[in-house]
Amino acid sequence: MHITELFRQAVEKGSPCFSVEFLPPLKGEGTQRIFEGLDPLIEFPLVSVNVTYHREDVKYVERENGLLERHTVRRRPGTVGISAAINHRYGIEVVPHLICGGQSRYDIEDALIDLDFLGIHNVLALRGDNLRGEHSFRVHPSGHGHASELVAQVAQMNQGVFVDGEVEQCHNTDFCIGVAGYPEKHAESPNMEEDLRRLKEKIDAGAHYIVTQMSFDNQRILKFIERCRAIGIQVPIIPGLKPFATQSQLTMLPQIFHVDLPQALVQEVEQCRTNAQVRELGVEWAIAQGRELMAAGVPMLHFYTMGKTDNMVKIAKALF
Ligand code: FAD
Repeated sequence: MHITELFRQAVEKGSPCFSVEFLPPLKGEGTQRIFEGLDPLIEFPLVSVNVTYHREDVKYVERENGLLERHTVRRRPGTVGISAAINHRYGIEVVPHLICGGQSRYDIEDALIDLDFLGIHNVLALRGDNLRGEHSFRVHPSGHGHASELVAQVAQMNQGVFVDGEVEQCHNTDFCIGVAGYPEKHAESPNMEEDLRRLKEKIDAGAHYIVTQMSFDNQRILKFIERCRAIGIQVPIIPGLKPFATQSQLTMLPQIFHVDLPQALVQEVEQCRTNAQVRELGVEWAIAQGRELMAAGVPMLHFYTMGKTDNMVKIAKALF
């Protein structure tokens, strides 16, 4: 079932639901850890599982003569495979992420064909970040520079239009396409207005719904939704929440995700003496955020879980 349909059902029944995000296992690991994380969540109204996509990384090895040797490594391959495994085990919808970074349009098309064969009909279309050590996003010579172009490719494929245009008769795919939105603005965007204009381009290119970057501030999330509506974005918007979990996230989250942490949260984290206390605080903060958003009429929430879901179980118990 499409994510938009699950969203519509949650609105119609007046019964909120949620999705969670998982990383594919590290190379060499099996599926066990993912399943251990998901098993306890299945009893709740968990309607879909997103699986992130990780592009290649660059590793430098120092040779005896002091020169550095550059290696390309992939630490977390397998987004399509683990998505299919989750779907097969739980019968739940999965949303594999697709990125432009490092991919040609043919690579993307191949992945979409595999997903279609596997019965997976939801994707989240993203640009991806710069390769480590690169100052700006480098476009693959036959790939896409922005998520809107990737959205257009998937939307075209839904119409039976392939990259080389050679297929005369075909079975049309039926992908529901999600895109990323940024309540606190994307880091590279000159301002919020411009970022929203770019977001609207993704919707106009054929995207069906938006999942937001994490935000710890509901006022920003609700304002973002309001501004989207004001510029004519009518698709479902699913707020992304991250259960805060460690002291180090005080600096790490703003650095990596370019989000502000409310001062009240910072002060409370600073008062914690152990990471176990921070994790508990993160649960309480996420519950409070979820309650307030649901009271404001938000029918579906997306949680950035990093695999360990003991905190997510407590949040789900309190909210759903
Ligand atoms: P875009 O929509 O292309 O936007 C990127 C920047 O370019 C923005 O500043 C935008 O305003 C601007 N822009 C857009 N179109 C144009 C244009 N035509 N001309 C000029 N500027 C333009 N990354 C991964 O690598 N793997 C993942 O699995 C992953 N999952 C994510 C899930 C969610 C819900 C979110 C919010 C992010 C995720 N990311 C992931 C991170 C994401 O790839 C980065 O935030 C990336 O920097 C931007 O991706 P985007 O799809 O928003 O890009």
